[in-house]
Amino acid sequence: MYRDRVGGGSSKGGEMLDRKRINDALDKHLEKSSPSTSRNKPSAVAVPSAAGKHLDQRDTRSSSTLAINKNKLSNNESETDSEESDVSGSDGDDTSWISWFCNLRGNELFCEVDDEYIQDDFNLCGLSSQVPYYDYALDLILDVESSHGDMFTEEQNELIESAAEMLYGLIHVRYILTSKGMAAMLEKYKNYDFGRCPRVYCSGQPCLPVGQSDIPRSSTVKLFCPKCEDIYYPRSKYQGNIDGAYFGTTFPHLFLMTYGHLKQQKPTQSYVPRVFGFKIHKP
Ligand SMILES: [Zn+2]
Repeated sequence: MYRDRVGGGSSKGGEMLDRKRINDALDKHLEKSSPSTSRNKPSAVAVPSAAGKHLDQRDTRSSSTLAINKNKLSNNESETDSEESDVSGSDGDDTSWISWFCNLRGNELFCEVDDEYIQDDFNLCGLSSQVPYYDYALDLILDVESSHGDMFTEEQNELIESAAEMLYGLIHVRYILTSKGMAAMLEKYKNYDFGRCPRVYCSGQPCLPVGQSDIPRSSTVKLFCPKCEDIYYPRSKYQGNIDGAYFGTTFPHLFLMTYGHLKQQKPTQSYVPRVFGFKIHKP
């Protein structure tokens, strides 16, 4: 089922390959640039080769989907030329990189992180060693005009773009645990932006995004249902490719502790399988 869903993008195979190449390069760069003595979890960067093999593949896809989304968006909006050339973010359109990014298809789970939060170096502590092209990626996120813009090749620009997406995710996971970030997520929760629990007896309970790991590139984002307290794959294949570490393992639970009134009673009803109307005997 999951495979079916991620297989949807096969028509964009060429781009996928392109992206794969870029991501491989990014991976190599990450491995090279991560100092083995890094004080914040070196494993956060280097993907364990054996266990990470298929995850790695999924991850490649994860970034490629972002890229594909972007391309699709560009294609769809090719009538409005100003929106199309968004890679540099410096073509005079007044949308910030952050709002542009959060409005991409599949990125509905992200809230917009306050500029002020990102501008405070304290909040970004430790990220420069995890993200390649850190300074350029940060400039891109904050829409700072870079004087080096013309220096880069197309490929380097794409690497910076991918790095910016990763950096934004790693800032996002921290931000949504602050009171401001949580308030932003509350708004989204009230709008059902995170989707609803697919379980029938949860009666359309709105969900919250959650990661199964806080280490980037270990698993994709899932949805947590406050009622049945279980996790699910997001319905959208675009959302299903996003790194779970951009939401983290803590968020939904701290969120429900903070907004205690949103905590749900466990559902009393549960499904009973029947054959010709009779309950199935369990030995
Ligand atoms: Zn549920």
